[in-house]
Amino acid sequence: MAVIGGGPAGAFFALHLLREAERSGRQVQVVVFEKRSVGAGLATCGEGCWKGCNYCAGGLSPRLLDVLKELGLAVPEEVIQRRIDSITVQGYWKNIELDVPPGRELLSVYRGSRPSRRPDRQHGFDAFLLNAAVAAGAELVGEEVIEIAYSERRRPVVQYRSGEGTGELEADFVVVATGVNEGADGGTMVGALRRLLPEFAPPRLRRAVVFELEVEPEVPSSLASTVHFVEYGSRSLRLEMCSLVPKRGYLTVVLVGPSVDGLGERGESREVIRQFLDLPHIRRLAPANVRWHAVCACRPSLVVGSARQPFGERVAAVGDLVTTRLYKDGILSAQETARALAETVLGWGVDAESLRRGYGPTLRGFRRDNRFAAVVFVLHRVFFGSSGLSRVLYQAVITERKSRPRAERRLEQILWRISSGDDRYEEIFWAMLHPATVGSIFVGGVLITMRNYVAEVLFGLRWEGFGRFTTGVAKERLEAKRQHFARLIAESHVVAPDRPEFERMYTIKIRAPRDRILAQLGRFGEPDRGYLWPRGVRIERVAGRPNTPGCVVQYTVVSRQFRFRLELEQLVEERLAIYRVRDGFARGGVLIFEIEPLTGELSALSIYVGFNFARGTTGLSRVWAWLFRHLFPAFVHDVVWNHSLCQLRDVVERESDRGNFRD
Ligand SMILES: Cc1cc2nc3c(=O)[nH]c(=O)nc-3n(C[C@H](O)[C@H](O)[C@H](O)COP(=O)(O)OP(=O)(O)OC[C@H]3O[C@@H](n4cnc5c(N)ncnc54)[C@H](O)[C@@H]3O)c2cc1C
Repeated sequence: MAVIGGGPAGAFFALHLLREAERSGRQVQVVVFEKRSVGAGLATCGEGCWKGCNYCAGGLSPRLLDVLKELGLAVPEEVIQRRIDSITVQGYWKNIELDVPPGRELLSVYRGSRPSRRPDRQHGFDAFLLNAAVAAGAELVGEEVIEIAYSERRRPVVQYRSGEGTGELEADFVVVATGVNEGADGGTMVGALRRLLPEFAPPRLRRAVVFELEVEPEVPSSLASTVHFVEYGSRSLRLEMCSLVPKRGYLTVVLVGPSVDGLGERGESREVIRQFLDLPHIRRLAPANVRWHAVCACRPSLVVGSARQPFGERVAAVGDLVTTRLYKDGILSAQETARALAETVLGWGVDAESLRRGYGPTLRGFRRDNRFAAVVFVLHRVFFGSSGLSRVLYQAVITERKSRPRAERRLEQILWRISSGDDRYEEIFWAMLHPATVGSIFVGGVLITMRNYVAEVLFGLRWEGFGRFTTGVAKERLEAKRQHFARLIAESHVVAPDRPEFERMYTIKIRAPRDRILAQLGRFGEPDRGYLWPRGVRIERVAGRPNTPGCVVQYTVVSRQFRFRLELEQLVEERLAIYRVRDGFARGGVLIFEIEPLTGELSALSIYVGFNFARGTTGLSRVWAWLFRHLFPAFVHDVVWNHSLCQLRDVVERESDRGNFRD
């Protein structure tokens, strides 16, 4: 059998066929033609074992990694560029971070040997996979196939370049796995397939721009283990789905959208890349001490449809040349078509009718699933492309996170499955339309957004020039976080209410060292602070010095009647600031700031607030205290602190960037 193209589709076909044949005690000979590989024996190849690029972001999805495990293949450490911990979906300054669920794995790799300056060019995923096919018994010919035609006895004959001349191989069956990025009109193999199968038509394509961002001195830790999906550009740069996938020393960036669809000349891609890097929400991703510049850009095609009649007598196409799951997980799709074809060949036969019966249903399954995908992506775009709707979704995700255990969070799971390709689109579509999902969006999203919006208007909180990040602590982390703070309180010998009536915890990651965050926190009561300015609330230091025990910060809410003071009781190293509420309705309560270093320059700032409502001493004041306790709008506290923490993050990061520039 001849396989033309040793990318994922061709390599997986050879692997599945040879493994299955061995299991059933059958002898099969497989020859793989791959024009980018440099000879056989990839295991020991030097730098040039794979020529060029495979036009891909290089994200390996959890389901693909499951398949590799099933095949007994472990991606070698040197091929893995990064292990991904989370996905961040950015829509109109709202950032939804989705952790990779326990037991799932996401990796990034390079498929070929580009970018040419990377020091580990010899390690690529396609070479690893093809090597596995060779180890399973495939013969590799590192040449380009230029034609396929039927012989007189109706066997396909493959004609390939060989040295200065050409070679020929007559096969019982030919698999065309040449992808869709081999030149205009799909390359020579599309023409060959059309001649063999007159009704064949390649799948519909859409252009993308892919480039490598060389990052110096290193990919910042805030980006190093996260895949960023950026769902919008600007009015003049219309983008829909962009991704930044971290590698060692690089970020692979993919741009898709109306501004990319119509690109003509090469210079125009450069302009799109320049505009993209200049977007404020993209510039904010890189600290100022990080320099990045685009290298190795190209404009490959994404498959967004299905081929017509991609098989016939003793010949079939697989992988991208046939179809793929819309916008996600192309390598897994290539594997699925390859496996279905290998099973058909062994179980049914290689004639047109056997292929129709055995292979046809898998291709119809893709077509059906992609119809659901089209609706899923329209909804996804509508939500993330609109400022208002992205806020509703962001809010609904936060509400779910704070109120439900991980396994019951529908929205988070849907977003994870769309972003990571961890499910079929049909399942995702029905999950999106489920009444419980719609209910979550309406109650946890629409209603709470409206309520919070009113609070933001009343308190004059404006979101301009900085992003929204989730700051509420997820339900499953709440108890652990509570115990953590209880321990901190005990270790600091601070008296704090046990199980207080009002208790809140917030946390945010900040791309800055501890001392810079602490310095900003110290400005808490200063007139030049860059955060915590709710309208109608005067916050001022009335005694002591910032960040020094004894410092007193006074809150005056509207009038003198609602006045209370916080005193900094303890500052433990540079990581813990404990304030005590001295008077007012929260008398005896605590406000604690904790700054923990994470990886690299990333830190986590957490806030704990806990108090019991003061009881009155006279009959009237008791009634008033009771009323106050029951009518206290706790959500306003969340709204104000969410805004203040996001603003504080922005202030600290900007300041830290300026400092780094000076360094
Ligand atoms: C911008 C972009 C980003 C993507 N990101 C991801 C991602 O992060 N994760 C993911 O899973 N998928 C991603 N994909 C999709 C993925 O790249 C494809 O679905 C996948 O590569 C399809 O595999 P294939 O084997 O069918 O084709 P290809 O990977 O294109 O392989 C075809 C192979 O055939 C060889 N070949 C071609 N013509 C000949 C010939 N005449 N003779 C000999 N050899 C030949 C080529 O050298 C090549 O190695 C992305 C696609 C694009 C365009």
